[in-house]
Amino acid sequence: MDNESYRVFIENLTGILYVLAGIFLILSLVIRIVNFIKVSSIKDYKGKYDYLRTRENKMVWYSLLSFSIAVFLILNTFEKETILISQWWFIIRMFITACISTLIGYVGYLILKFYNPGKIQKKLDKWRYMPRISSTGNEMKLLTEEEEDVYLDEGMQAEENIFSVDYDVWVDEITKEIKIEKYAGYLEVLKCGTCTFQTLKLREEEIIKPASETEDGELLKHYECTYCSSKRTTKHKIGKLLKTEKDFKLPQDYVLKGERKVKSIMIEIISNKGERSEFYFQSKEDAASFLTEFEYDKSPAEV
Ligand SMILES: [Zn+2]
Repeated sequence: MDNESYRVFIENLTGILYVLAGIFLILSLVIRIVNFIKVSSIKDYKGKYDYLRTRENKMVWYSLLSFSIAVFLILNTFEKETILISQWWFIIRMFITACISTLIGYVGYLILKFYNPGKIQKKLDKWRYMPRISSTGNEMKLLTEEEEDVYLDEGMQAEENIFSVDYDVWVDEITKEIKIEKYAGYLEVLKCGTCTFQTLKLREEEIIKPASETEDGELLKHYECTYCSSKRTTKHKIGKLLKTEKDFKLPQDYVLKGERKVKSIMIEIISNKGERSEFYFQSKEDAASFLTEFEYDKSPAEV
């Protein structure tokens, strides 16, 4: 590109970048505003709770993403005179600004992942325990775990007993009106196909065919409903074992000098939890065939 057309290109590009940066900056703000309006427009406290729990973090993330794109675009309009000196500066600017905006996005991601959940939890608690108002306008009372059982049917109680679902029962003490709200419990439990309560628990996993390096294995998962006792079994695939040169395999060209003098070969296996196990073999063939059979969960150190 000759100097004149390069100059025209940079001038045009700078104009476009200003417009795009503006669009992304506005988009970032609009997402935040829409989110705020959405939360405020939900009248029902439980509705606010559900929205916050499922959507809040995602919306903040999209807003942040638009913001870091805007930063990237605006930074690429800086130092125009320097950029005009050489086309290399154009590439260097692009690289540096990409690093800066990625960093902003990444820091934002970390905040959303580690700091924001605590903040959202506070808001969630606020909406969950804010006194409900009954249809006649009275303030309702939240019952304790012991008191609420009277209002929950057996299936609901079974769900609560295995911590899959948590029910809140609100009562209007004057009119006796009841409001039952369903919240996710601490443990993830599946929904039973027979009684439709979230009371299906994994009882046992059974490997019917272990995976090898060449073939997939098969696993059966046995579930049992803690409420209606119906059973369910599902079949799952176990992926082929990946054995690369890097993990459990002795290099092909590995020759032990004067092998007859070798008394034993020790293999030390360190798991990703930091547990160490040592195994001794009399020949490298034994060691190699051990490695092809080895499965950490079945190692003697674990048993
Ligand atoms: Zn069931």
